Amino acid sequence: MSEATTALPTAESVRKLHDLSGRIALVTGAGSGLGRTMAWGLACHGADLAVVDRDIGLARRCAEEIAGGSGRRALAIEADVSEEGDVSRAVAGALAELGRIDVLVNNAGHNIRKPLIEYTCAEFDSLYAVHVRGTFLFSRAAVTHMRARRSGSIINIASILGHVAARNVAPYAAAKGAIIQMTRVLALELAADGIRVNALAPGYIDTPLTRQHAPEVRRQITSTAPLGRFGEPGELIGPAVFLASDAASFVTGASLIVDGGWTAQ
Ligand code: NAP
Repeated sequence: MSEATTALPTAESVRKLHDLSGRIALVTGAGSGLGRTMAWGLACHGADLAVVDRDIGLARRCAEEIAGGSGRRALAIEADVSEEGDVSRAVAGALAELGRIDVLVNNAGHNIRKPLIEYTCAEFDSLYAVHVRGTFLFSRAAVTHMRARRSGSIINIASILGHVAARNVAPYAAAKGAIIQMTRVLALELAADGIRVNALAPGYIDTPLTRQHAPEVRRQITSTAPLGRFGEPGELIGPAVFLASDAASFVTGASLIVDGGWTAQ
C-alpha cells in the first residue's frame, strides 16, 4: 500500500487520545505534592480516582478537591505502601467501590539526604520499603486484576537520580534505579497481557519533599538548572496523563525524563 492510501486515524479518535473518561486510576502518596497533583490531573481528563496515602486526612482532602473541582468520583484510602496487608486491602477496597483499576501510579515516597557514613540501616531500609517494596506490592496486587481484563497502565514514579548520580543520596538513588529496572522487567512480562509499564522520572520539582532541602542546596539546584528554576508539580500532569492514556499505546518499558533539561547537561 502506498503512503497516500494508508488509512489515517479518524479525527475523533485523535482528539480523544488523552481522554480518560470511564477509566479508574489509583494513585499512591496522593495526599501531597506530585501524587495529589497527578491525581487531580487524571481526574480533570475524566478518570475516577482511588486516592491512597498513609495519612487518611490528606487522602480525604485530595479526594474532596477532586470530587468538588472535577466532578469525578474520588475514594480516599489509608494505606502504607510498604505493608502487604494494607496494599491488599487498598486494592480490594478500590475494586469494591470503583469496580476496576485501569491506571496505577506508584508515587508514594520520601528522601533522606546525607553522606554514606551517616546513613543508618533503618534509614536505608525505610527508603527501599517505600520505593521498591511499595512499587512491587502495589504492582503485584493490581496486575492480578488487570490481567483478567487484559489492559492496564502502570506508572512508576522514579527520578532522574535513578539515571544519573548526585552526592548524598546513595540509598534513594539506588532505590530509584531499582524502580526503573523493575519497570523494564514488568513491561516485558506483562506486554502479552495488554498491560503497559512505564517509569516517570522527574527532575527537581517544588513540593514539600524538596522544600525540606537546605537553602544552599535549593540555590545550587536553581543556579545549575537549565531553565533556572524548579519544576512545578502541575508540569507532571501532562506526562502522567500521556502515559496513562491511549496516546501512549505503543509506549512500554520506558523511563520518561521530565527534568527541564537537567540530564541533558
Ligand atoms: P511529598 O510531597 O512528600 O509527597 C509524598 C507523599 O507520599 C506524602 O503524602 C507521603 O506521606 C506519602 N508517603 C510516603 N511514604 C508513604 C508510604 N509508605 N505509604 C503511603 N504513603 C506514603 O513528595 P513528592 O515530591 O510529591 O514526591 C512524590 C514522588 O516523586 C516520590 O516517589 C519522590 O521520590 C518522587 N520524586 C520527587 C521529586 C521532586 O523533586 N519533588 C523528584 C523526583 C522524584 P508523608 O507526608 O506521611 O510522608
